[in-house]
Amino acid sequence: MLTGQQYKDSLKDGRKVYFQGELIEDLETVPALAAPLNEVASGYDKYFNADPDAINPVTMAPMSAADLRDRIPVITEMDLLTNTTYQSLMTLSVAAARLEAHVPEVVPRIRAYVEQARKDDIRITECITDAKGNRSLAPSKQEDPDSYVRVVERRPDGVVIRGAKLHISAAAFGHDLMVMPTKAMKPGEEDYSIAACIPANSPGVHMTNTTYHPTGRDPRDFPVSSHRSIPDSMVIFDDVFVPAERIFLDGQTAHAAVFAHSLGLWERLGGVSFMVEQADELVGLASLIAEANGTAKISHVREKIDEMMIHATLLRAGLEAALAHANSTPEGYFYPDDMYTNVTKYQGASQFNTMVKHLHDIAGGAVVTAPSMLDFDNPELRPYLEKYMSTGSTVSGEYRTKLFHAIRDTTADSFGGWHFVTNLQSGGGLFAQRLVTRKNYDLERARALALKAAGLSGA
Ligand SMILES: Cc1cc2nc3c(=O)[nH]c(=O)nc-3n(C[C@H](O)[C@H](O)[C@H](O)COP(=O)(O)OP(=O)(O)OC[C@H]3O[C@@H](n4cnc5c(N)ncnc54)[C@H](O)[C@@H]3O)c2cc1C
Repeated sequence: MLTGQQYKDSLKDGRKVYFQGELIEDLETVPALAAPLNEVASGYDKYFNADPDAINPVTMAPMSAADLRDRIPVITEMDLLTNTTYQSLMTLSVAAARLEAHVPEVVPRIRAYVEQARKDDIRITECITDAKGNRSLAPSKQEDPDSYVRVVERRPDGVVIRGAKLHISAAAFGHDLMVMPTKAMKPGEEDYSIAACIPANSPGVHMTNTTYHPTGRDPRDFPVSSHRSIPDSMVIFDDVFVPAERIFLDGQTAHAAVFAHSLGLWERLGGVSFMVEQADELVGLASLIAEANGTAKISHVREKIDEMMIHATLLRAGLEAALAHANSTPEGYFYPDDMYTNVTKYQGASQFNTMVKHLHDIAGGAVVTAPSMLDFDNPELRPYLEKYMSTGSTVSGEYRTKLFHAIRDTTADSFGGWHFVTNLQSGGGLFAQRLVTRKNYDLERARALALKAAGLSGA
């Protein structure tokens, strides 16, 4: 296994990482990139084991429903890149099993890759979402044929790919890019049916970085995002050669969706587990700021917090139901129930704005106007700030100001905006969750109940 320092050194591999238009040689020289680098490195140190045969236990498959449940606190605590690595390895393991009957020649290759990746303790990112061009047109009907990643050349020893994957979380910080089709493909779309794991430093790979990291600002004013931020990348594949042993699907249109479907089993559990924690955190912030403002006993404030607690509890109930109804793949890997995971994610995402509205309504305008902690450092200013931000002898001005900074950082500033969009779009957006619900909901039973109520049971 690698230590945090060995991980950092391993990224000095000639990769093309850009930040605000500049090519960055050393990620540690840019604060917005150094913060996530250090976070991932501390994830390495946390799990490091010097035994030469050691493997990071969190990358292994859950082999029972209890094991799956025990993962939840581990998932919400781990850094995002370790989580995408776990999800990627599980995706490949499940996809290999599903491809065995149809494309057997790729299966040993996928399994060998997974084993080696665990041994080498590398980090992998998930490159699924294409640029997509005109959303109403299929990949092969786009004006620009590169709107979806495609094979542009086949050679005896591999293929050359072109295109881009967008919004890729932590791409610049991983060792390999797990590329897979974003959707099902049709005959004629063979070149778009490509899945492979590609080293992030391959010639022709370029990675931009967009981040909510509060560069240049006092970290105390951004208590969460100053130490927890992971950039998202556009990963550009400008005629990138992929060696044959790293290709897991090439041209088999009928199986193009196998990888994305396999990923879905693992990805949403992380999203939902995080949303449950986030909903409780919003309740906590609302309760603390109401108390600090002296409004905790006012009826409309209590009702709003009640509503937030009901929302948080319903999300937790959905997660519990997904775990209680866990299923297993033929290989014995346990994953949460699809329907419960999806409806919980939908509910969490679609109600997030309402919960944040309650929090802002309760907290007041200082969410966005509270003085900075540097203002508190000024000895001349501090007594005034203490006097006017305090709400009584039990609530100091600094304490209350810190609550406002936490609320702004997580819900009303760059990081808060990122949360709002990410909750909606990650894992395929609300539409994707509605489709899963439509497919799995027991509509016949509901219709039968309605017919019975209408006295039309025999109709
Ligand atoms: C912060 C963040 C991190 C992400 N991380 C990753 C990652 O690590 N890896 C990765 O692969 N992806 C990642 N994503 C991408 C995410 O999965 C997509 O944003 C999501 O699938 C929506 O795709 P899009 O952004 O291209 O929007 P669009 O596809 O343009 O969707 C916008 C809206 O149009 C609707 N729509 C689009 N096309 C159709 C259609 N044909 N029929 C009906 N409705 C349609 C959608 O349902 C949606 O409501 C991330 C996204 C965010 C915001």
